[in-house]
Amino acid sequence: MRNVLISGAGVAGGTLAWFLAREGWAVTVVERAPAPRAGGQAIDVRGVALDVVDRLGLGDRMRAVRTRMRGMSMVDGDGQELFRSEDHTFSSGRLDSDDIELLRDDVVAMLLEASDVEYVFGDSITALTEEAHGVRVEFEHGGFRTFDLVIGADGLHSVVRRLAFGPEEEFTRHLGQYLAIFPAPNFLGLEDWQVWFRHENVGGAVYPVRDNTELRVTLGFGSDPLPRHDVEGQKRLIAERLGGLGWEVPKLLEAMAAADVFYFDAMAQVHLDRWSTGRIALVGDAGYCASALSGQGTSLALVGAYVLAQELGRASHEEAFAAYERRMRPFVALNQALATENPQGPASEESVERAKNAISLA
Ligand SMILES: Cc1cc2nc3c(=O)[nH]c(=O)nc-3n(C[C@H](O)[C@H](O)[C@H](O)COP(=O)(O)OP(=O)(O)OC[C@H]3O[C@@H](n4cnc5c(N)ncnc54)[C@H](O)[C@@H]3O)c2cc1C
Repeated sequence: MRNVLISGAGVAGGTLAWFLAREGWAVTVVERAPAPRAGGQAIDVRGVALDVVDRLGLGDRMRAVRTRMRGMSMVDGDGQELFRSEDHTFSSGRLDSDDIELLRDDVVAMLLEASDVEYVFGDSITALTEEAHGVRVEFEHGGFRTFDLVIGADGLHSVVRRLAFGPEEEFTRHLGQYLAIFPAPNFLGLEDWQVWFRHENVGGAVYPVRDNTELRVTLGFGSDPLPRHDVEGQKRLIAERLGGLGWEVPKLLEAMAAADVFYFDAMAQVHLDRWSTGRIALVGDAGYCASALSGQGTSLALVGAYVLAQELGRASHEEAFAAYERRMRPFVALNQALATENPQGPASEESVERAKNAISLA
């Protein structure tokens, strides 16, 4: 039986694990976090990615827990409403669309529960050596194992990419923004309504989830690349940049200080000339992160994992990696372009429609 190691138990890793196990591979997934990672915003499953979640058998469960926003308003730094909409929100686009907006935590939990493979939490790859018939992999917690293939599904800061392709700086393009995302109790009393706020180059969004019991808060600021910070340093940066704002921002900053679950990252894209080398390949953000600004990171991860597994079920790994790349390149290019099309907000509806369907799963 052919065996594969997937680094990263996120959307790309969980999806690939499911489809490769179905193709008869022995699958091991190594995840650096001690347990599936919580937190994050509502993310979107759109266009062709809807077929992928249906093929995973998870489409109906995902539709059942989708967000059900009535609309959104945009306010300025003092809380004055600038506009409101009951047709669309910035996070999900048109409210009458068939696309599914749901929490990232729910997607990952469903994927991990559905795939009957070996998950190793709390460890990470430290070295990869290509041998004649496999890849020798060393782990942070000691020991080594040999796999036929190794796939990096370990996100924007992929360790597989660094070890097999080179340093992160060579492949990442900073998009000039940083975002923090964290949950908080719904102290604003929002009911299925999003509020976005912006003042000069800082801003954010807040909306209720889980039957309006909880808020997901996004706070961000524009900046050139900054040195890495620990969580306390990241929270300090956000507090400094948004400290002068009115509206409910002071309360949101208090909630951030108390948040145990906290995600912070640069908005950045990953661009590589190739997504495989020998027996090692990349999928999802590790290979072609489009950034949260594209609204398509999750759909790219779902579709990329599906196409890669499909090609590995048809041919040798050399041919499969080449076919995966050939099919995915145009789809990735159109979706990455969504992040940069409109510096003031989301891409146009026409561009999203075109990009989300620009690949065939046949
Ligand atoms: C906690 C979290 C919250 C997020 N919130 C949002 C959001 O609100 N909005 C948005 O648009 N996108 C968000 N993202 C990114 C979004 O999930 C991805 O863009 C998209 O789903 C593509 O998925 P992916 O599987 O390629 O990458 P990811 O979802 O980033 O998954 C990568 C996985 O690899 C793991 N990993 C990282 N390094 C290693 C390592 N060395 N060894 C093993 N495992 C490793 C990570 O812990 C993670 O579980 C978030 C990601 C995370 C991890």
